[in-house]
Amino acid sequence: MHIVVLTKPVPDPAAAAERLGPDGRLDRGASPSVVNGNDEYALEAALKLVEAHGGEVTIVTMAPASGADTMRKALAMGATRGILVTDSALEGSCLRSTVKVLAATLRDLTFDLVLAGLDTSDGGAGVVASGIAALLRLPYLSNAARIEPDVTAGRVSVRRITPAGYDLLEAPMPALVVCTQVLGEPRYPSLKGIMSARSKEIASRSLADLGLDPVAVGGAVASTRLVETRRPAARGATRVVRGSAAEGAHEIAVLLDARRLLP
Ligand SMILES: Cc1cc2nc3c(=O)[nH]c(=O)nc-3n(C[C@H](O)[C@H](O)[C@H](O)COP(=O)(O)OP(=O)(O)OC[C@H]3O[C@@H](n4cnc5c(N)ncnc54)[C@H](O)[C@@H]3O)c2cc1C
Repeated sequence: MHIVVLTKPVPDPAAAAERLGPDGRLDRGASPSVVNGNDEYALEAALKLVEAHGGEVTIVTMAPASGADTMRKALAMGATRGILVTDSALEGSCLRSTVKVLAATLRDLTFDLVLAGLDTSDGGAGVVASGIAALLRLPYLSNAARIEPDVTAGRVSVRRITPAGYDLLEAPMPALVVCTQVLGEPRYPSLKGIMSARSKEIASRSLADLGLDPVAVGGAVASTRLVETRRPAARGATRVVRGSAAEGAHEIAVLLDARRLLP
């Protein structure tokens, strides 16, 4: 099987650094980048699938050139190779451009499955995967809690989480699956994995390589632009109410009454 996993570098959520630059845009130099958490779940699912069925995993990332450092972390987990789409014209790309560029990258590949994360911890739109599936006319299997490919039959079945339980979906491959954390905790890279990641291939693709015109995608034609960012209003002092349930309820009622919040 050949599985492609979409992985995006995001600022490390654990880093305390200020993430926005003076222009209100993400300052990528301010904190270390990590593989987007939800994409690690997708990668873990892909690695388990090739361990069970054989095959290879390619990670695909659209990011500035520094994205290669983050991709090494995903390669250390066990991915076979990486493709980094990077081009100065992509600076300031909107979601629509991201979808077009990633779809063009996938169009050049032969694969059985594309796995993506549910959303990212910086952009958080949660629409890139569905946009790609629509452009490439791939079956779109979202919210996956289990992925079971039948390589011989060329089909995949997916348990999709619903508010009521699960739907069981089946589709021909190639297909695109959006992964959830229910698929299993991502593995830590082993020392051997970290060492071998250094020599794994990360192929770089520019817009020209993909046959895309920089005036048709990227920052020049962004469909949305960041106009302002605001800090949330500072919270007032917090008061913790202690005691039994009855004492707590009484004290909260007194507090609300003092603020004229009770009818
Ligand atoms: C103001 C602004 C400036 C930007 N500047 C740049 C820039 O300078 N350079 C640049 O390359 N991009 C840039 N982008 C694009 C951006 O980094 C995202 O890739 C894109 O907007 C996706 O949005 P999201 O994170 O909300 O994705 P979501 O829809 O939340 O992502 C869902 C899933 O799709 C996949 N995915 C999403 N984005 C990528 C990606 N980039 N690569 C691989 N897989 C992905 C992942 O599996 C992810 O879990 C910019 C976007 C904005 C809004």
